[in-house]
Amino acid sequence: MDNKYDVVIIGGGPAGLTASIYTSRDKLYTLIIDKGIIGGNINNADSIDNYPGFPEGINGPELAELMHRQAEKYGLKSITAEVTAIYIEGENRVIKTTGGDFMAKAVIIAGGSDKVKMGIPGEKEFTGRGVSYCTTCDGPFFRNKKVVVIGGGNSAIYEAIHLIKFASSISLIHRRDKLRATAILQDKALAETKIEFILNTIVKSIEGKDFVQKLLLENVKTGKQSILETDGVFVSIGLKPNTDYLKDLLPLDKQGHIITDEHMSTNIAGIFATGDIRSGSIRQVTTAVGDGTVAALSAKKFIDG
Ligand code: NDP
Repeated sequence: MDNKYDVVIIGGGPAGLTASIYTSRDKLYTLIIDKGIIGGNINNADSIDNYPGFPEGINGPELAELMHRQAEKYGLKSITAEVTAIYIEGENRVIKTTGGDFMAKAVIIAGGSDKVKMGIPGEKEFTGRGVSYCTTCDGPFFRNKKVVVIGGGNSAIYEAIHLIKFASSISLIHRRDKLRATAILQDKALAETKIEFILNTIVKSIEGKDFVQKLLLENVKTGKQSILETDGVFVSIGLKPNTDYLKDLLPLDKQGHIITDEHMSTNIAGIFATGDIRSGSIRQVTTAVGDGTVAALSAKKFIDG
């Protein structure tokens, strides 16, 4: 594997993949570095219903594969590794990773975000033994079982709907009396008899022996505690940007997103940020694709001087 590129893109979600289609087509030698499976968070989406051009919806992993193939057609290279640091060395930006060091004239950071953890007793212990953060990956293990989804946003509702085809029942636990998810998704979930809504409720702990068996719940209005028996817990309470390794390099907002201008430029020349990782992003596949385009064109302009 070469270690010198025109453009290194960190993250292979929709923003990074779109940027790579543009840079590769512009004959800029481009590498995508991703710590997981190419596609990022859309790999968790069974069906993406608001991406233009697919009136019946499109499966997330399938869309990722199509975008990746499109970029590879123009010469994109990819590697699975975790980026640990970026620094400037003369004309080059050096990207340190668990798979070696790479040099680039421009870097586009499109590392997206990871699922937020609850931080409650039992969560860590039972991860992989009943606690999961991905229904597309783990849903099939819960065929005819009772499961719980925690969260009230778009992701939680999507996950609950996705689980209908596997689980015997789904309890969606949300800490408020109103869901955050968009109205159309709420209506879809409310119409499903398999989904039960437990509102104004938080999960205090996850308990079991070898696998998850029950949850300790607390009603936030009455303070009343209760036990809910379940075989699985899907945590879906939001996303956290993957910027821990950038804290000392780039200005971040309060939530840890990278601050950029409208050209996706950070305050370091030749380093761009795009997609969900960027401060102010509205975290849609469509906006990630648009932002990825802008970042690629800005990187090209930078390299051309
Ligand atoms: P969100 O931040 O939208 O929602 C998180 C949910 O989890 C909220 O309901 C929040 O409650 C709840 N929550 C947060 N912390 C805790 C906690 N400690 N304990 C219990 N509950 C908690 O995150 P999502 O992952 O749903 O979505 C992330 C982004 O991706 C959003 O911008 C979303 O719109 C977008 N998205 C878009 C999709 C689409 O349009 N097709 C699909 C999926 C995601 P509260 O409401 O009280 O704050």
